[in-house]
Amino acid sequence: MKFIVTKELGRLARWLRILGYDTEYFLNSNRSSLVITSLRDERIILTRNSRMSPVSGIRIARIKHDELKKQLAQVMKELDIKPDEKALFTRCVLCNKKLKEVEKETIKGKVPEYVYGAQKDFVICPGCGRVYWHGTHWGNVRKLLAEARVG
Ligand SMILES: [Zn+2]
Repeated sequence: MKFIVTKELGRLARWLRILGYDTEYFLNSNRSSLVITSLRDERIILTRNSRMSPVSGIRIARIKHDELKKQLAQVMKELDIKPDEKALFTRCVLCNKKLKEVEKETIKGKVPEYVYGAQKDFVICPGCGRVYWHGTHWGNVRKLLAEARVG
């Protein structure tokens, strides 16, 4: 399942990426190019724009909430998706590219010294070069997911 998220939902877009979903963050307001991109890539449109009218062949979820937790809960419920724990942190939060495993030695100096010392496994974004590791974020993500599921 792939998404295209309109610009007022930046936080939701980042979180969908954290959960491993291929999510395009659509920054301009050109509605026809939004529709074209959605059709071309078979992406579901997520938007806060309640006036956006249905277009044949396109699935749109109108997000009703301001709070991230409720937004995630709505997406999961309305589209009937269950995030896969194995998919968490497999995609770059900034540019949506699939992360790649990387030899620890090659990222020395790119992460804080204490992280380098404490962590064994690192992944890198082939797009922007950002390095990720299993840090404290994991707990936060699980907590938010759990809250969104019950919320
Ligand atoms: Zn990136």
